[in-house]
Amino acid sequence: MSSEPKRIALLGATGSIGRQTIDIIRRHPELYRLVVVSAGSRVDDLASIAAEFRPRLAVIGNAELLPRLKSALEPLGIACAAGAEALADSVVADDIDMVVTATVGYSGLEPTINAIRAGKDIALANKETLVVAGDLVNALLADSPSRLYPIDSEHSAIAQCLEGEKPEHVRRLLITASGGPFRTWTREQIASATLADALRHPNWNMGRKITIDSATMLNKAFEIIEAHHLFGIESDRIDAVVHPQSIVHSMIEFTDGAIKAQLGVPDMRLPIAYAMGYNNRLAGVSEPLTLEAMSTLTFERPDTERFPCLTLARTALERRGNTACIINAANEIAVAAFLAEEIGFNDIYDIIVDTLEAMPYIANPAYADYVASNAEARTRAAEMVDKTKK
Ligand code: NDP
Ligand code: MG
Repeated sequence: MSSEPKRIALLGATGSIGRQTIDIIRRHPELYRLVVVSAGSRVDDLASIAAEFRPRLAVIGNAELLPRLKSALEPLGIACAAGAEALADSVVADDIDMVVTATVGYSGLEPTINAIRAGKDIALANKETLVVAGDLVNALLADSPSRLYPIDSEHSAIAQCLEGEKPEHVRRLLITASGGPFRTWTREQIASATLADALRHPNWNMGRKITIDSATMLNKAFEIIEAHHLFGIESDRIDAVVHPQSIVHSMIEFTDGAIKAQLGVPDMRLPIAYAMGYNNRLAGVSEPLTLEAMSTLTFERPDTERFPCLTLARTALERRGNTACIINAANEIAVAAFLAEEIGFNDIYDIIVDTLEAMPYIANPAYADYVASNAEARTRAAEMVDKTKK
């Protein structure tokens, strides 16, 4: 590693991944320096992060909050900007070595694409980028010096298990899933699950959107899609395995029958630091596993009857084109409606499937097609939310 600190643009600084990234940067000023920070609407949190780390630029997604950001940061000599375009532009400057994408949802796509075009390395938490447009992102990466390192714990585990292995020796990826809060619930119980029930994740403290995705298990479908794009493995060789303890972060089965797994306490700082260090280990970043924690590790097959969202991985990877982009857009609208307590838990899956049926299929989408599919799928899903509202 070079002696100069790596210069970081952190998108989504105020969120769950963003705050844990900042924790690592705070403890390792000799390794990392923040030059750009951004958030969606938590302007005071963003201002206090910027006041502490003195980046060159702070960007807020919600443009109405720009005056408030400016009044806090301009006296400190920190430039301020607002809106999606400013966010997308903020990642290309020469003084950035790596972009950490910790925004949630579709909003991560354009900045990530710009960062790749500008040759920046990416530590990717925003899995929706690969779900929506994995083929496009891979095509851009092939023409760019950028390297992309996954932060998602399962994909970090796979990357760690791949070290020193030959790709042709990989038989199967086993992506572990906690099973979420409804792992042991019946179909009937799940049908009447409340928002508070769905937000009660057993092992991880994450943003609200991914917490709901974990409860429906669409998060695991997204991770299968993400794994396909990251590691070039077809979906029939990627399986989800329910592992309620979230100690084994994922596994690879090799052609000789060996299985390699990565274990650790459920602490996202480990995969964040591994990605930010270009797949290097940072001493002391998380607590070691105790023998007690490893004494009971259990594994179950996932139940697609109770968690039909899991089947959407295969749907997306078989149909390809703009399919996963539509699934993601419909899910974002449906999850927002569920978080607003406007629809029921199982309506999320129904709205995704109905939106998928209502949308035109595009086999080889260009960037503009993703933008259009995302916008149209959101409109259609919002109409379905209106019809479904309790
Ligand atoms: P949070 O909701 O906690 O944080 C999201 C961040 O993105 C916040 O800083 C938020 O700003 C910002 N943001 C939201 N919308 C916009 C927008 N339109 N424009 C600009 N910024 C925006 O999410 P998480 O940290 O939990 O998740 C982030 C990503 O990481 C997701 O893609 C998720 O799937 C992935 N991930 C998360 C894990 C976790 O443990 N949390 C684990 C694995 C993956 P504000 O605070 O102002 O709203
Ligand atoms: Mg994950």
